[in-house]
Amino acid sequence: MAEYTPMMQEYLKTKAEYEDCILFYRLGDFYEMFFEDAKTASRELELTLTGKSCGMEERAPMCGVPFHAADSYINRLVSRGYKVAICEQVEDPKEAKGLVKREVIRVVTPGTNIDQMALDEGSNNYIMSIFYNRGIFGVSSCDISTADFYLTEVDSIRKLIDELYKFNPAEIIYSKSIFESGIDITEVSQKIESALSQLDESFYDDTLSTRELLNHFHAHSLEGLGLMDFQYGRIAAGALLSYLKETQKSELAHLTHITPYTDGKYMLLDNSTRRNLELTETMRDKQKRGSLLWVLDKTKTAMGARQLKSFIEQPLVSVDEIIKRQDAISEINESLIDREELREYLSSVYDLERLITKITYQSANPRDLIAFKQSIGMLTPIKTLLSGFHCHLLDDTNSNIDDMKDLFELIDSAIDDEPPISSRDGDIIKAGFNEEVDRLRAAKVDGKQWLADLEAKERDKTGIKNLKIKFNKVFGFYLEVTNSYKDLVPDYYIRKQTLANAERYYTPELKELEDSILGAEDRLNTIEYEFFKTVRDTIASNVDRIQITAKAIALLDAIISMAVVAEKNHYVRPVIDNRGIIDIKDGRHPVVEQMINADQFISNDCELDLDSRTIAIITGPNMAGKSTYMRQVALIVLMAQIGSFVPASEARIGVVDRIFTRVGASDDLSTGQSTFMVEMNEVANILHNATNKSLLILDEIGRGTSTYDGLSIAWAVVEHIAYTIGAKTLFATHYHELTELEGQIKGVHNYCIAVQELGEDIIFLRKIIPGGADQSYGIQVARLAGLPEEVLSRARTIVNSLNENDIAAVADRISIREQVEEKLKSLEGVTISENEAEIIAGLRELDVTKITPLEAMNILFEFHNKV
Ligand code: ADP
Repeated sequence: MAEYTPMMQEYLKTKAEYEDCILFYRLGDFYEMFFEDAKTASRELELTLTGKSCGMEERAPMCGVPFHAADSYINRLVSRGYKVAICEQVEDPKEAKGLVKREVIRVVTPGTNIDQMALDEGSNNYIMSIFYNRGIFGVSSCDISTADFYLTEVDSIRKLIDELYKFNPAEIIYSKSIFESGIDITEVSQKIESALSQLDESFYDDTLSTRELLNHFHAHSLEGLGLMDFQYGRIAAGALLSYLKETQKSELAHLTHITPYTDGKYMLLDNSTRRNLELTETMRDKQKRGSLLWVLDKTKTAMGARQLKSFIEQPLVSVDEIIKRQDAISEINESLIDREELREYLSSVYDLERLITKITYQSANPRDLIAFKQSIGMLTPIKTLLSGFHCHLLDDTNSNIDDMKDLFELIDSAIDDEPPISSRDGDIIKAGFNEEVDRLRAAKVDGKQWLADLEAKERDKTGIKNLKIKFNKVFGFYLEVTNSYKDLVPDYYIRKQTLANAERYYTPELKELEDSILGAEDRLNTIEYEFFKTVRDTIASNVDRIQITAKAIALLDAIISMAVVAEKNHYVRPVIDNRGIIDIKDGRHPVVEQMINADQFISNDCELDLDSRTIAIITGPNMAGKSTYMRQVALIVLMAQIGSFVPASEARIGVVDRIFTRVGASDDLSTGQSTFMVEMNEVANILHNATNKSLLILDEIGRGTSTYDGLSIAWAVVEHIAYTIGAKTLFATHYHELTELEGQIKGVHNYCIAVQELGEDIIFLRKIIPGGADQSYGIQVARLAGLPEEVLSRARTIVNSLNENDIAAVADRISIREQVEEKLKSLEGVTISENEAEIIAGLRELDVTKITPLEAMNILFEFHNKV
């Protein structure tokens, strides 16, 4: 029976341990893939599929990539959701007896890739771990490229989905327990485009997870880590840590802290609100341009960009915290300290968070160390400028920035200012740092002189005028003689190689020189590498200081960005308090005003409170600007709560706990639910979760069903919000009947967006004014959109012939019914006859909106007979 070759047996053994990965198997200068892996990789990477004899009858399918170009291939596979296991030669092939020893040194997965080329510098790259038990999800997220590590617990699928949208993980790992919760994790992961792996249950073990966390963070107790109250969060985090260690084959010393969080710290934003408000990307094409982030992001560093993004994703709810940020922005813009100078220093700071990760992973090259040095070189002037500020936040930031002069000096003295990328080929260590390096370098220079001397001597001796000493990696040094001088070659020349037009030789003297030159070079490269590694390890051992500094720089950069935007876009500092009032004067939509000429944007006020102005019913034709207005109010509140200044002439913002939006047609059709169902799901979520501290933005509720049903639902929703929830609400509707609620329900007020009629046309004035719109101008808007004149004129005829106020009639009937109910209530307790009671019961059961006039007559007739 045929048997696999020894190499192939080794390969298969390794592959069996990494079944779910594509195994990159190092053979010489290539990483090779075999069998199914080879087929997948050749398809995904457009590589030629070849074969290798493996001892069996058929050759093993094989493809490969050169090791020096492997990163880009690995990134491509990982970005498509594959996991790649890298199997290296772990001993020098020259010294190996038999097969070279190989080991998997790292598994790269979508959520654990730290290659800078694969990462978006303005975004985090999270991996999320999920555990479930008895109604609670433990959730932990980590970005190993920046060392951000969090955990929390949530008690519903909806909240879990909110977390997923917030972190937008590249990879999700989970325990099979989550199937008990009823979530369809495959569908969710497809939606957010993240890779998915179910881990073995042994990862999600309570005791092991706790032990893993305590060991990793060198803590004696869970209290010390602040994780007492997060039993399931801890299990998720412990499993995540084990998975990371298993794939990274590293102790992950740069993960120095884990941050638990709960609902109370940030404003809650569900995923549809995040998308509807286009916080970090637009809804339609998922671009940053056109989002709030696009307007606010004037950061100079990648760390600052990520920080600002997470500010926007997590607005604050603590008045004190918000005011701290505001104070910093005010001071930056008002002080005499040159903001632009600060920004210039910041722009020379590299991504310290990701650099330190590379350094602790021992994958940083000499140029990375120089980038690191240049970055920390900026810290001293930054600190000097910062010392001129006095507010809390900037003061704290300054004390958190460690100028790391010691590390600067270490790198400056040891590493050449312009080193090569490779850490193994010398020219890294600065002259004067170490005597032996200097001596060996001198020998190298001398060696060149020796070679030049030998070349001249041999030319003289032989008369071969174009004799040259050359070098290549395979043959070392040799004397090259072109064919025309072949006859002059003396007999002590030993032939090394024959080319078409020349011969290559060596002599014992050249060989001796070669040994001493190459020996010196080898030694030099080795000790340069050792020194380089020592410097790198020294930096790595300072990971805490570097991470704290990096976070401080990120915060500073994000705050300065908000200050720059506040000034440039003429924002004002809002008054922030807990009084529940939202009062905005001349508010503008932060994004729309940037997209059109700024002076063309019409500003609008907004006044909402907890008592006399809770709900604004907004009517007006399509295209009038209702959605823009409502989103603008939501965005201004959100901006205020991230500490930013806001586009208005004056603003007072009472902190809100959540913003809910139910806007426009849903793009959730992929789930197979009807638009109406999705809409009602969202409304249900809002009605269940909103509080009187929430802000609700409701656009065209009830649109997805028949007019009567829609109007009734919209009506009932407004009542419920007014009577039961008390949340500040902007409610746009095309049901003009809803304007009747003003005066009937306390706190409800009507607004409309003004339009001017001009013959057949209408002009949008974009100004919000008190009162309800009296017309919907549907046909005029259709005309603006370019509907053919015949269609328009036919529509006009139909409108005129339709029963006037069809819908208003229903509204009337509804209010008649309410009046009847009221009357009935007032009759309670009064003695009535049996017949009268029957009539009242009959009336109660009656759905006036569902009967025909004839049925009504009959019922009336029956009632009449009873009295
Ligand atoms: P609606 O929700 O009433 O149908 P939109 O809010 O979608 O209307 O607004 C329609 C268009 O009018 C938008 O494209 C927007 O650019 C423009 N617009 C809205 N409000 C303003 C405003 N206050 N100033 C200038 N242009 C505006």
